[in-house]
Amino acid sequence: MTSSGNPYLTVRDLTVSFQGKGGEFHAVDRIGFELDRGEILALVGESGSGKSMTSLAVMRLLPQAARMSGRITIAGDDVASLPRRQMEDVRGARIGMVFQEPMTSLNPVLTIARQMTEGLIRHQGLSRKAALAAARSALDDVGFGEPDRVLSQYPHQLSGGMRQRVMIAAALALRPGILIADEPTTALDVTVQAQVLDLLVDLKSRLGSGILLITHDIGVVAETADRVAVMRHGRIVETGATDAVLRNPTHDYTKALLASHLTVEKALGLRPAEKGAPSRS
Ligand code: ADP
Ligand code: MG
Repeated sequence: MTSSGNPYLTVRDLTVSFQGKGGEFHAVDRIGFELDRGEILALVGESGSGKSMTSLAVMRLLPQAARMSGRITIAGDDVASLPRRQMEDVRGARIGMVFQEPMTSLNPVLTIARQMTEGLIRHQGLSRKAALAAARSALDDVGFGEPDRVLSQYPHQLSGGMRQRVMIAAALALRPGILIADEPTTALDVTVQAQVLDLLVDLKSRLGSGILLITHDIGVVAETADRVAVMRHGRIVETGATDAVLRNPTHDYTKALLASHLTVEKALGLRPAEKGAPSRS
């Protein structure tokens, strides 16, 4: 909760539209949700359902052509009415973001130290020394035992999973209340995927980060999220506690997502039984 008593991130009646040949097209259609520190909310839905446009709206990074309506607040501030400079501070300091493909977000010719500190120095006004200290401590947070070694390396010297952990560390360097992770494990192979998801769950409990986890994979939701919002054609068709939604989906689309995913039952089986649930065995 923020000092105003509201959740850290609130999204109300958000619509994102584009002008197309056949008129206005709603990529996101009157959705609402909230997210607090210390919890993971998953937005799940098939490709094109409006997940990324939702996250970009929160960061105020929508494409020029997009029109947005609704209201988004971060730590009590209305995102739409913040001056541009102040919004730049919000990105990084209050909300960090991690994208799908770590290689495209990293510059191959710069050391990890350079890329992790440049934004901190340029946009957040940290001294080089303070920026390096923040980078080192964030790398430690995501489990690098020897942060200085990673800082001296170039992206190609790291594995895919390490690169994604570096990106998560970069997003966490200023200890933002919330991390938005858009398909953070989609480009990784399965075992590395599991490690990165474990890390997100760990960051939630250890640092108290709130995480908006965007995925097309309901298995990822089952393994990580406290709450889930199922998106289809720009709308949230079903939302609730992850266990409740996945055990008793009410919307046909959620049922279809579940039916197409064989590992969900396994993931659910690994979760502790709900308190008071009658034993069937
Ligand atoms: P998701 O992340 O769920 O796969 P997106 O949020 O990226 O989906 O996209 C939602 C919808 O918005 C899609 O139908 C996509 O084609 C459309 N869209 C995305 N960017 C643009 C754009 N610049 N102009 C027009 N339509 C766009
Ligand atoms: Mg997307």
